[in-house]
Amino acid sequence: TRSNSLHETDIAYQVHPYTNARAHEEQGPMIITKGDGCYVYDSEGKKYLEGLAGLWSVAVGFSQPRLVEAAAKQMSELPYIQNFAHKAHAPGILLAEKLVEMTPEHLTKVFYTNSGSEANDTVVKFVWFMNNMLGRPEKKKFLARNKGYHGITVASGSLTGLPGNQKGFDLPAIPVVHLTCPHHYRWAEEGESEADFTARLLKEAEETILSEGPETIAAFIGEPVMGAGGVMTPPEGYWPGIEALCRKYDILLISDEVINGFGRTGQPFGCQTYGFTPDIMVTSKQLTSSYMPLAAIMMSDAVYQIIADYTEQLGTLGHGFTAGGNPVACAVGLENLAIIEEQDLMGNAARLADRLQSGLRQFSDHELVGEVRGVGLIAGVELVADKATKKSFEPGGKIAAVAAKMAAEEGLIVRNIYETIGICPPLIITEAQVDELLEKLGRALDRTLEWAKAEGLK
Ligand code: PLP
Repeated sequence: TRSNSLHETDIAYQVHPYTNARAHEEQGPMIITKGDGCYVYDSEGKKYLEGLAGLWSVAVGFSQPRLVEAAAKQMSELPYIQNFAHKAHAPGILLAEKLVEMTPEHLTKVFYTNSGSEANDTVVKFVWFMNNMLGRPEKKKFLARNKGYHGITVASGSLTGLPGNQKGFDLPAIPVVHLTCPHHYRWAEEGESEADFTARLLKEAEETILSEGPETIAAFIGEPVMGAGGVMTPPEGYWPGIEALCRKYDILLISDEVINGFGRTGQPFGCQTYGFTPDIMVTSKQLTSSYMPLAAIMMSDAVYQIIADYTEQLGTLGHGFTAGGNPVACAVGLENLAIIEEQDLMGNAARLADRLQSGLRQFSDHELVGEVRGVGLIAGVELVADKATKKSFEPGGKIAAVAAKMAAEEGLIVRNIYETIGICPPLIITEAQVDELLEKLGRALDRTLEWAKAEGLK
């Protein structure tokens, strides 16, 4: 028998990602029915400021009519054609040209996939493919970081450095070494300065390369600002130091810009904010504002030439996805990037960064807040049981989940990541909406503190 409400039907039929299935059977879904600019509405008509832009992705806001038109037009003209075996379509071609124009100068070729995870799996395969072409098949290992997030498929989930994505799944399944998370607040030793912390991480990276053998390390992958692991900004000098090591030991440098890309940090790409030059860059999310699934791998000419030589030798590039670079997704991507440019949304992110970041830093004095961190329009507020010792609440994650629930009650959507509240509003956000976000978050923090006291946790 079919149940008669969407709520019950969801419980009956859907398995949700990143959800405790048993808890979901009890509480059911929060059904979002409508979006408008920076706001979304639930099935009861309650309005929320979307403080996470979907999943760090809806740059131009919800229900942007130009994207709807671009999709409808492409849908009716040519909804699909493969891009295998020399086939091409105008939106895919024009978007590739646009991406090459926008990205760091030396990245000159584009390969499309449907998601960030597929893009990172593809990068793993491309890197292996290159080293096989170069006659060094033993150069296969990846360096990644603890708390890094690169997706959940078998290879990308192996690069991810979060136990929650690996436990129970037999990951990592590819050779990867996870280095220390470059987050001073949590990972520095007692009294260690930021400069000393950076030096120690770079020493660790070099020692790892030497002990594993540089001839076995293929690539280093990282997010310029780490997102899904809890929004961690790197210490000064970290990225240039990593880049120098990559050059010294002939290791490819991959910037995972799935969250950072297209203005999130206040500059077009996170690698520009942190001053390094990747060989490969992975983008998705804000590429289409997540209206359509699409990811783009950007590669340097040097990378492309090696791959191209091998395809000639083997006869083909034996890799590609049926819907990778779907014409509707590419048309939406093109229009989305046009809006970002015309409305100067990257400039907006840079202009409003201080208002958001310094506004959030005012919560540093709050009894629950251990650290506020972030750059541009992405931030994390880490909650602690004890500010002096940085001790977390037990069990990890509960307090931020309560804070996120309180924020939703206040009409603000944020994301709880372990003990941290992740904040990443649409790039179209206004000054008044930044203030609204801060006000609602402040109330949610106060209510969370009351809750913690009532529970005897404080
Ligand atoms: N890389 C980064 C940095 C991400 O943040 C994500 C998703 O959050 C991914 C990769 C995976 O992308 P997707 O969820 O589209 O597979």
